[in-house]
Amino acid sequence: MTYLGIKQLPAKIAWTPLKHRCGCVADWGWDSEAIPPPQFIAWCINVVGENCPWHGGETEQDMPIPANETIALTHPGSGASIYVRKATGSDVALGEQLAADLQGLMEKATNNKLALVGEIPPRYRKWLYANGYDPLEAWLDQRLTDIVLNRGEVTVTPEMLNQVP
Ligand SMILES: [Zn+2]
Repeated sequence: MTYLGIKQLPAKIAWTPLKHRCGCVADWGWDSEAIPPPQFIAWCINVVGENCPWHGGETEQDMPIPANETIALTHPGSGASIYVRKATGSDVALGEQLAADLQGLMEKATNNKLALVGEIPPRYRKWLYANGYDPLEAWLDQRLTDIVLNRGEVTVTPEMLNQVP
């Protein structure tokens, strides 16, 4: 990652806290007008297994960047900025949860697809089949969206499934 220094934040930034390998919880921010959501999800999948930026990311060499500032990094896919600050308050616990969920999900997607299919609520799975979706792919997308973009909020709820014909 390239450290761009402290930049003026665009007005609409969405934040997702994630715990990193070094144990720090970083709060990652992005602007959905600058970066397509799947690219931000891919970014989070990549960085969650690495150190936080302060501890050097993938290089693991401590970086001389201010501890209490929001900093900007270049997103390699789009050239847009991704913002990061240290998580505070309840975002620390949330970031621990989201990182565990994200890594558990990717582990299943890689090594145990059967377990992932087993997680899909049966009614939703039936609906996905009936409407021509690949249930595994659709569920993976749904879970990634909920974890990374919705800060862990589950959007496929029993109430929603009751509306499914
Ligand atoms: Zn760290």
